[in-house]
Amino acid sequence: MTLRELGLSPWLLRAFAFAWGAVWGSFVNVVVYRVPREMSVVRPGSHCPACGAPVRAADNVPILSWLLLRGRARCCGARISPRYAVVELLGGVIGLGLLEVLLHTLPGHTPLLRAGAIFLSDFALAMALLAAAFIDAEHMILPDSITLGGALFGLATPGLRGLGYLDVVLGAAAGFVGVWLPLVVGYKAIRGRAGMGMGDAKLVMLAGAWFGWPGAVFALFAGALQATVAAMIVLLARGKIEEPESVRADRDELLKAAAAGDEEAKRALDEDPLATPPQEGILAARLPFGPFLCLAMVEWMLGGAWIRATLAPWLSR
Ligand SMILES: [Zn+2]
Repeated sequence: MTLRELGLSPWLLRAFAFAWGAVWGSFVNVVVYRVPREMSVVRPGSHCPACGAPVRAADNVPILSWLLLRGRARCCGARISPRYAVVELLGGVIGLGLLEVLLHTLPGHTPLLRAGAIFLSDFALAMALLAAAFIDAEHMILPDSITLGGALFGLATPGLRGLGYLDVVLGAAAGFVGVWLPLVVGYKAIRGRAGMGMGDAKLVMLAGAWFGWPGAVFALFAGALQATVAAMIVLLARGKIEEPESVRADRDELLKAAAAGDEEAKRALDEDPLATPPQEGILAARLPFGPFLCLAMVEWMLGGAWIRATLAPWLSR
């Protein structure tokens, strides 16, 4: 059976893709909350972040529940961050966007199984990137389970993206070394601290493992450009760039534990570049770069074919 023989109305498919994405966006919220706290993402089921009461299924409908309850928990009336609804909405938009790309780029005679595998693999990566972006924005951590796990998944499945094994192996190597050598090792040698974290290097490695080297180059440059624009907007609006609240809270906790004689906390403080309060000045500002890399990767996933076609005449001049 092929895409064309399936004969479903594209509008039905679109509605399904959006709903599917929003439901998984709801799961991404659980991942964003629990993974940095080292909790299981499977058990227990959803509960209220304020009072811990289990959330009823009827109050757990993506986007709609948040709107109907006006951003408050039914159990205790606590304010629920709009981030929950935003992540669900982004999940839906990504599901819809990936379906559109598929409908526009895959020939009608593509077997349904292959179309499904392409959609599901891209969708899984996009959800992992959505989770990584919000975890990094809040904690300035990029979990290895996402960066390294995603890279391995990408290295194993190049055929789903029309690439060969050599493309993705070279892409991953170029992505990692291209960030690690100048921005982690080199920058540290010159300025005494790393310009980017190892998590960022692993994330660009993931971009290369998934899309080959052009995707890694795009992620790095488009990510840096968008991060610069965002930093300028924050600076104009607030006059300075604050480090995320929970990064400060995590550090205070480590410092307290180390002062009480906890050896593990002392070691963590020695190794963690976030262990000292940020220095003054724009160049020392702590802006998480991961969300911008993730954004650029999703842009490449949705618009990479179009970007390459647009750039091709310029590159061949
Ligand atoms: Zn509650």
